[in-house]
Amino acid sequence: MSPARVIYFAATVGVLAVPVWSVVHEPLPLGALFAIVTGYAAVTCLGVFFLGLRMYTNALLRGPSGARGVALTFDDGPHPTYTRKVLDALDAKGAKGTFFVIGRKVEEHPEIVKEIIARGHTVGLHSYAHDRLFSLRGPSVVRRDLQKAIAVLEKVTGERVRLFRPPIGHTNPIIARVVEELDLDVIGWSVGARDGLAGTTAADVLSRVMPSAKDGAIVLLHDAPERGEREPAGVSALPELLEKLEAERLDVVPLASFQERV
Ligand SMILES: [Zn+2]
Repeated sequence: MSPARVIYFAATVGVLAVPVWSVVHEPLPLGALFAIVTGYAAVTCLGVFFLGLRMYTNALLRGPSGARGVALTFDDGPHPTYTRKVLDALDAKGAKGTFFVIGRKVEEHPEIVKEIIARGHTVGLHSYAHDRLFSLRGPSVVRRDLQKAIAVLEKVTGERVRLFRPPIGHTNPIIARVVEELDLDVIGWSVGARDGLAGTTAADVLSRVMPSAKDGAIVLLHDAPERGEREPAGVSALPELLEKLEAERLDVVPLASFQERV
């Protein structure tokens, strides 16, 4: 169990103890109540925003100790132009990547998903709608979105998807429960290229990724913009990134080589 989850459980027990304390002893002063509620809200929000804390779910963030190589992951596709550029760059080096695709884009470009698989790469799920407020939705909305995305992807690939990266990396107890119900493995990252941000250059991507590119790293890049048509900087950076990883003697390895069922 992650330290953050221990803190979350302890904080939840503490908050639930407040009314009991108030009945058995005396009501807490308003100032103390405010501090407890604010503190609890802060703890739970940290868990929502930072997947790496693994407060609500056991996300894979990096390879196990002793893992060799670096896994490259690409979010927000498929895209008819940019995904193919990524595939060409990976294939030129014989490298394998994992693509976390958005269900509604899979419906628009099923042929790109088929091509990803035909060229030997892996496909994971990145929700159906890529709703930025996913972590504020109720269980039925979250379940419907993921079930729809799973079905859309299965229709195209013929296989039930297992890997899931939450939209913008946010999780909460509802998402964690639905993910478990649907038997999905949550995949995080240890190195974020932030290549989807406006104004990011290929040089920015290289300077963000290379210092943290170590054995066992999971790198988050994009093969499509979340919205619109702007090419993510990671797409143009990829050929040089692969050269630099090679120069550092870091193999690009399939994500599956890092996976131990969690
Ligand atoms: Zn995304």
